[in-house]
Amino acid sequence: MDFDRDKVLEFGGLLSEADNIVLVSHSNPDGDAVASTVAMYCYLNSCGKNAAVVYPNEYPSNLGFLFDGFNPVIASVDLGRARALFKDAGLVVCLDFNRLSRASEELERCISQSDCKKVLIDHHVDPAEMDMVFSDPHASSTSELVYKILKHLSDKSLDIRILSAIYVGLCTDTGCFSYSCGRRDCFDVAAELAESGVPMASLKRKVMDEGSENRLRLLGFSLLERMKVFPEHSAAYIALSRDDLQRFDFRKGDLEGVVNYCLRVEGVRFGALLSERSDRIRMSFRSTSAEIDVNRFASDYWNGGGHVQAAGGTSFFTLDKTIEIFENQIRNNLHETKG
Ligand code: 5GP
Ligand code: MN
Repeated sequence: MDFDRDKVLEFGGLLSEADNIVLVSHSNPDGDAVASTVAMYCYLNSCGKNAAVVYPNEYPSNLGFLFDGFNPVIASVDLGRARALFKDAGLVVCLDFNRLSRASEELERCISQSDCKKVLIDHHVDPAEMDMVFSDPHASSTSELVYKILKHLSDKSLDIRILSAIYVGLCTDTGCFSYSCGRRDCFDVAAELAESGVPMASLKRKVMDEGSENRLRLLGFSLLERMKVFPEHSAAYIALSRDDLQRFDFRKGDLEGVVNYCLRVEGVRFGALLSERSDRIRMSFRSTSAEIDVNRFASDYWNGGGHVQAAGGTSFFTLDKTIEIFENQIRNNLHETKG
């Protein structure tokens, strides 16, 4: 699906009129969040616009190579700078999230208090209302949407940095074209990226495969020691304590993709990853088909949301208590219950 050309041109008008443009994404920014903001930033930079990227907290370290010649502002590290950027903003573009609360309480406040125009570009269901909304819940990724918009907006071919970032977003949000890619659109975009010389194989290796020795050993440990399978409930989950994470010198991004391994167990249709962080338990949910709606499961029970087959949430109980409640939910087949 392509966006209405006039609407894209109207967005182009907002970009040209604004002096300071702030691009913002969600907490715990993933590959698509980082890639879509970087692509938009590089485009604005190539047009001579003054733009800045703000994330609520740190991005995965293996994506650092995308920030070539600039740095995002991390609000949890430098809230003053983030606040100042929103205060001076002439336009705010929100990428890869559907609710302002996904951008942390602090940034939600900054965005709501800013009186400039706000634009949303996102592929989650049920997008928030803003001055302009580009939403397509059937899209593989926000990066796919950014590509479609920039292709319309730019009168010259997009530079390789932009195109490479788009590929990273497509790759990370579809597990390298394994899921969330039921439409031809993402393959069409990928074909155009290939034709433009995007180094697909090396980017895929860099973003999806390569990591520290500790990261790989944490994966092995998670599967050997921490995965529990419930064959009679078609479910499996992995729970990692703070001590487990410390043992493998956990770095942001090291658990990216680990939840998907649960779905590789024969017969398992619902998988989860529970990991203990400083003040809460981070939860990821995945399912093998739309019949198990993990977006609903995450929002009904775990203060979260996301997509039908990939969602996240948060528990404020201890890890043990969270495991107890979660196992009861599995035994009661709550993950299978239609909303
Ligand atoms: P992940 O499990 O990889 O962190 O997230 C899977 C998907 O769910 C992503 O699209 C992510 O944006 C979304 N998601 C993760 N955590 C939350 C949450 O707490 N609330 C909502 N609304 N979406 C989430
Ligand atoms: Mn996304």
